This record gives sequence, structure tokens and C-alpha cells, in this order.
Amino acid sequence: MSKDINRRDFIGLAGSSVGVGIFGNNPKSSKEADIGNIGSKGPVSEIQVLVEKTPFIDTHEHLPPESERVSNKDNRDFTPTPDIGLLFSHYANSDLQVAGLSSGDYNKLISWELSPKDKWNLISPYYEKCRNTGYLLCVRESLKALFGEEDLSEGNCEKISEMIREGIQPGFYRRILRDVANIEYVQINCLKSGVFRESEPASDLICFDISTVGIASSIRNLKSLNKFSGMEVTSLKEAHNAIEHIFEKFGPKAIAVKDQSAYGRKLLYERVKDEDVEPIFKKFVRKPSDLLPEELKLIQDNLFRKCIQCATEYKLPIKLHTGYFAGFNGMDLSRVRDNLCDLVPLIKDFPNTTFVLMHIAYPYQHELIALCKHYRNVYADMCWSWIIDPVSATLFLKEFLLTAPMHKIFTFGGDYTPVELVPGHARIARKGITLAITQLLSEGWITESEVPELLDRIIHRNASETFDLPRVLRAYGV
Ligand SMILES: [Zn+2]
Repeated sequence: MSKDINRRDFIGLAGSSVGVGIFGNNPKSSKEADIGNIGSKGPVSEIQVLVEKTPFIDTHEHLPPESERVSNKDNRDFTPTPDIGLLFSHYANSDLQVAGLSSGDYNKLISWELSPKDKWNLISPYYEKCRNTGYLLCVRESLKALFGEEDLSEGNCEKISEMIREGIQPGFYRRILRDVANIEYVQINCLKSGVFRESEPASDLICFDISTVGIASSIRNLKSLNKFSGMEVTSLKEAHNAIEHIFEKFGPKAIAVKDQSAYGRKLLYERVKDEDVEPIFKKFVRKPSDLLPEELKLIQDNLFRKCIQCATEYKLPIKLHTGYFAGFNGMDLSRVRDNLCDLVPLIKDFPNTTFVLMHIAYPYQHELIALCKHYRNVYADMCWSWIIDPVSATLFLKEFLLTAPMHKIFTFGGDYTPVELVPGHARIARKGITLAITQLLSEGWITESEVPELLDRIIHRNASETFDLPRVLRAYGV
């Protein structure tokens, strides 16, 4: 803390930054608007300025191709409709439904059949009940960042809907991600693209993960492996060859491997010998549905370990979903609780593989800090965590930085399908990072001189060192 600011002023400033609007309400550019609005000298504003101007490397989004959004702008068979319903089509929809919105009414919210006003009237009782959650806060922060609007209401829902629709133009991803959210580039895991997005190339703005869910960790049939091997896979050896072929084809073009098998199974990927799996695999080839769950698990364990071997050869970090489940009324918390314990055998068996454990394994984030502190090859990714539980995410960052080496944390991934909600998430993340670093400084855990290097690392450099975008661009000839 600098000498020209006493402790009470400092706490006052930090306290005021907890309120909505910490980063200003100017819709122009977050970089200009947010810095100009603080109006105070001293360490708090310096930290805010640094956090604002350092571009994020965004390690996790689910964005569909921009061309798909643009070409379906007026397609009445395509949902979510480009109006206020879109703002509630990811994550916020879960909180609204947990607060009582029926699934029938949710479908109306994202459809073309209601006007924006009718949509607002449909959701407003539930909106009020969960307006303070991170998911809903993110909707409002996105409104501020994109349109300069403070909140959604009956009075502005038509206008905001029109601005959402008008905003969908060629180049709008770059405008929203770079100009509004100050994100350098985004790593995309498109849930509709299967193993890898082949429909568009990586660029200086976007790049893609390989998904191992359908070919290994959660494999339930041979469709994907057959597709990439160009033949019917009939043995475990051929399945391994198909996986090798997939990595030969996409490994150089991928930024990482992403796997969210934790939604469907335990993360205990045991070492299973090929000869023990081969007879079960024959049965799998004949009729996958004949397998017992424990037999299917052995196949998945074996194939996923094969993927990890290949990913390691191509120097691809393995990003794993850990912790909390998206959606509602479906989370098996006991399995979630075991996620990190279950991963230890894999972490030990592949010491040269970089494991990036996502979403801070919420609500088991202390186990993640322990693993990052103890194992050289485990990294923490805060993607999604800022809107699941903003206060815990802030605390996590403080705890992590005083416990584990600082190069092992990535602080932002919006985890969104609609690009329009990424700026709000980025604002919440920047606010949490500012609070965490400000508090560490005020509590005397770090010194002012350490702050610039620390911020550069956690916002940008850690990700740029761990994920090799120049390699990916070379593979595309860029
Ligand atoms: Zn995700």
C-alpha cells in the first residue's frame, strides 16, 4: 500500500469496488471506459488499471461458428431467438428454473413465439429471486459492457432485443471478444463439432480443442472411431490406431484436449492391460449395449489412457472438467466430491502430461490447490468459476497464490455458448482479480512491486506459456 493512502481510505475504496459498476458503465470500450471511471490515485486504482488493460487469454468457451450465428439471425426454426431470451439461454436458465420457471415457459423464453415484453413478464418473478447470483449478475454486466444498460426491465427489453439482433454481423465475435472484453484469443470446445471443429480454421482470435469424449473417455459405440479410421474398427489394436490417426490429423492444429466425461462417470481411469480389455472389446464390437457398466468402464479407461499418451506426444495439455455440474436437478455430488482423488493415479502415471483441472473443482477447490501445490504437472483453471460463486472464486485466487507456484493458474474462461455473455463474465473476473490482489496487498501478503508481474502472469502469460498458439497457427499456415 502506498503511503498517500491510509488504511481506512483503502478499505473504503476496496469496499466501493464490491458494488455493481466497479468498472464503469460506459459501453464503448472496456479498456477506456473502465479505467476512466475510478477516479482515484493509489494502489487500488493502479491495480484496477493493470487488470483492465492486460488482455485475457480465454482458456474455455463453447462458441459456435460466427457464420452459424449470422446466417440464422432471421431463421425462425433456430433458437435461441436473438432477443432478450438469448441472455438467459445459458447458465441463467438454470437459476431461473431452480427458482421456479417451468421448462415449458423456458422454451417459450428462447423461442420466436413471444414478444420481448411478454418474455420479460414471463421471467420477471424468477429474475427477482435470483438476480444476485453470478449467472444473473453476468447478464447485467454483459448488458452494461455491450449496450450501456444497467438492468433489464419492461421498459428497455424491446430496445435491448433490437440491439442484440442488430449486433449479429460478420466480425461481431472479434468486436465483442477483443474490443469489448479485451480478450486476446479464445480456446473453443464446441459441443456440436464432435472430435474437432474442421469447418473453419484457427486464427489469431480463436482456436479449438480436441474432444476425447466420443472416442474414448465416454465412448458408447464405435461411430466416431470408425469415421476417423476410414474402416470398421474390430479390435482394440485398431481402436488405438484410429486414436493415433486422430491425433496425427488434429494434434498439430489443436490447442489442447478437452474432456468432460466427469458428467457421466467417475474420473478413476485405471490402468488396464490391452490383453485384459481385448475380449471385452470384441463383445463391444458385436453389440455395445450388451456390455456391463464395469466392462464399458474398462474400455473407456484403456482408450482414454491411449489418448493421454498421444496428447503428450503432441504436447497438448489435457483439460478436464472437474467439480460442479451445469444444468439443474442432476448433480451427483458424491461423485463430484471424488473427482480429484480419482484423478491422482492418472496424474502420477503421466508425469510428463500437463493436466489442467477446470472450474476450480468447485466446491472442492481446496483439493485442487493441494494437487497444484504437490504435483508438478497439475494446473488450475478458473474458467466458469467467477459466475458459479464469485466470492469463493476471489478467495480461491488469494489462497492459491499464497499456496502454489503462481505459474500454475489460468484466471479466465467464460464457458459460454452465446458470445454476448462473455464480456459480463470477463468483467466479473476482472473485478474478482482486482479484489483478490488488492486484499493480498492490504493484508501485507504481497508487496506493491510484485503486483505488475503477478497480474501479467495470472491474466495472460501463464496461459500463453502453457498453450502454444503460434504452433497451432503454423499448422494452418498462418
Ligand atoms: Zn464448458
